[in-house]
Amino acid sequence: MIGKRLLMIPGPIEFTPEVLAEMAKPTLSHTDPQFIEEFGQALEKMRKVWLAPNGQPFIIAGSGTLAMEIAAVNITEPGDNVLILHTGYFSERMADIFKLHGANVDIVQSTVGDLPQIDEVRKKLASKKYKTLSITHVDTSTGVRADVKALAAAAQETDTLVVVDGVCAVAGEELRMEEWGVDIAFTASQKAIGVPPGLALLVASKKAIEAFKSRKSPVGAYYCDWQYWLPVMEAYEGRKSAYFGTPAVNLVRALNISLGQILDEGMEARFARHARNAAAFRAGLSAIGLGFVPMRKEIMANTLSAVYYPEGTDASILPLIAKNGAMLAGGLLPAIKTKYFRIGHMGMSDASEILATLGAIEQSLSSAGYSFEPGASLSAAQAALMQP
Ligand SMILES: *Cc1c(COP(=O)(O)O)cnc(C)c1O
Repeated sequence: MIGKRLLMIPGPIEFTPEVLAEMAKPTLSHTDPQFIEEFGQALEKMRKVWLAPNGQPFIIAGSGTLAMEIAAVNITEPGDNVLILHTGYFSERMADIFKLHGANVDIVQSTVGDLPQIDEVRKKLASKKYKTLSITHVDTSTGVRADVKALAAAAQETDTLVVVDGVCAVAGEELRMEEWGVDIAFTASQKAIGVPPGLALLVASKKAIEAFKSRKSPVGAYYCDWQYWLPVMEAYEGRKSAYFGTPAVNLVRALNISLGQILDEGMEARFARHARNAAAFRAGLSAIGLGFVPMRKEIMANTLSAVYYPEGTDASILPLIAKNGAMLAGGLLPAIKTKYFRIGHMGMSDASEILATLGAIEQSLSSAGYSFEPGASLSAAQAALMQP
């Protein structure tokens, strides 16, 4: 359709008509029995999406950065040692938040587009007592995906709490929170969860809640403090209302719809579809000579691709691609910001969106003077999508 523009960025993403229609309903009181029921259902569904049957979910108005701060301040106290796995822009933000709240932060570095070696992380964890290991599941600035399962296993050897920034991953990348021993995994509504921006979503393990309850110093951020939010979440799940801060009523209702759609697809099917879509994008972009920021195939995310501009082109192709029907994102990591762009492919995106996006990229590259065989990316992506 002329003028139709797909939102293919790493959040906000394309939302389903059902989610958007829910947003448009008249706002209920946060004490309305219908809203209480829906809030309760959304909390229950979060456990299933996170694969954390004994986890404690939190739904709090705010963006993903609020979720980062909530995760950092509730289980870590001033003076605690925290180890950060560095994969890009958002690992640095997490380090800044921990430091602001008085933690002693050590960082395991990696080069752009790569991950620190797991042995290096293990060695570091054994070198002193770390309270928390913080991992960015998918770093949205590089498209690098960390091996959360292996890292969480390493952290368990030293009884270190594991915090996962899943803002660009939860409900797209495989995450088995409880089985893998993750203590806090959080995201924001506008990413793979598929709800307009405005909700910070966390699930905490029993161990994380115990760490919170046994802390010696108060939480150093009023709006983040679980002492106020925990009773609210417990009340709504018990189908009663409780108040600390007014819930984002329309967003919570839309969340309940979206989580229902995610669970209707099923988590295994959803992980597989994200992997298939990502493979199709990579096959298509490779076929016309484009390269990726992540250095190895095994560490490339399924939720977004970070792609180098081909020789002779730069960020000026992005408005062209938008005009041709797909809104993409520019670079984010300062060191290579002008050299690459990002395509989000998470949520409900299907074959038609992948093919339309590749078509828009081809048309724009062609008018920017880059030469390739027209249709090559579409045909390679189609072949990948048709693989059983
Ligand atoms: C988007 C994102 C954030 C920040 O979320 P906001 O909603 O923009 O505050 C944090 N971490 C990762 C990995 C992200 O992709």
